[in-house]
Amino acid sequence: MSELADTHAVVLGGAGFLGSHLCDRLVAMGARVTVLDNFLTGTPNNVAHLRETPGFGVQTCDVTDFIAVEGRVDFVLHLASPASPADYLRWPIQTLKVGSLGTHNALGLARAKEARFLLASTSEVYGSPTVNPQPETYWGNVNPTGPRGVYDEAKRFAEAMTLAYHRQHDLDVRIARIFNTYGPRLRTDDGRAVPAFLNAALHDQPLPVHGDGSQTRSLCYVDDMVDGLLRLLRSDQPGPVNLGNPHEVTIRELAEAVQDAVGTHPGLRYLPRPTDDPPVRCPDITLATTELGWKPSTPLGEGLSRTVSWLRANATG
Ligand code: NAD
Repeated sequence: MSELADTHAVVLGGAGFLGSHLCDRLVAMGARVTVLDNFLTGTPNNVAHLRETPGFGVQTCDVTDFIAVEGRVDFVLHLASPASPADYLRWPIQTLKVGSLGTHNALGLARAKEARFLLASTSEVYGSPTVNPQPETYWGNVNPTGPRGVYDEAKRFAEAMTLAYHRQHDLDVRIARIFNTYGPRLRTDDGRAVPAFLNAALHDQPLPVHGDGSQTRSLCYVDDMVDGLLRLLRSDQPGPVNLGNPHEVTIRELAEAVQDAVGTHPGLRYLPRPTDDPPVRCPDITLATTELGWKPSTPLGEGLSRTVSWLRANATG
């Protein structure tokens, strides 16, 4: 990992959940890190502990406007985007803009600095998949005009634009298709299943399950995800490469695991399924395993316990 020492990484969206963990690891590896964030869904608190670290800086910046960074840049890591359904349904236009204009600006920065560019794409490019698990070769089944289309299509555009820069300008690019990730610093009000379940269980309230809970999700602990992202960054694979945990669980099984991790069993309450909520979600990680030597190693129960400990130590509500 030492080859990242003394490099300069610019992390767009670095004050968010995943971005802040990535910053932690980059700093630990000796990289200089500049975070660009407008704090739409992230918070400076997520990186406050890094503020005194030499070489670490935060710039308030909406990456859909213009991006200016002084000096040499080795890596542009584009994680800026609302990421949970609650967030992108609340900010549909910002979501489309950050995936399109923001990605274009970020690619422009990488090109101007001759830096390597990494795009945080998503499993949502597969939409409501007709193939399970989803390999990178699957083109997806996205409803472009449904409410979730703002996120799915923005990321599909971002992938297309990233590879256009790669082909036309020979830009050095990496695309990660990130599947559901959880861990400390997730906002409990972001609407995703893990934080919603944890929040309910910690308040001894029934866990909110959409539909009958037979839909599946695959959940990756954040430390494993950051390890995968850094392996991809240092590989010679442009991608897209799936990163996620292939251990598929139903939402009801997840609710059970969360209750076990919290140590309370308030039961479930059933709510309507949101529009276009995918019935299955599971990564085929053959490419990441063979090309990056990566697979997640944190069992669900252990990752949930660590997240519960963090929430108990940091919860404000
Ligand atoms: P997050 O909301 O915690 O972080 C996103 C960050 O981007 C926030 O700090 C937000 O303020 C910032 N941001 C949004 N719009 C911006 C703009 N216009 N200019 C500057 N900053 C802006 O979300 P996350 O879970 O950390 O996700 C990070 C990235 O990973 C996103 O691109 C997301 O699409 C992708 N991803 C995450 C997951 C997951 O399970 N967490 C899954 C798939 C893909």
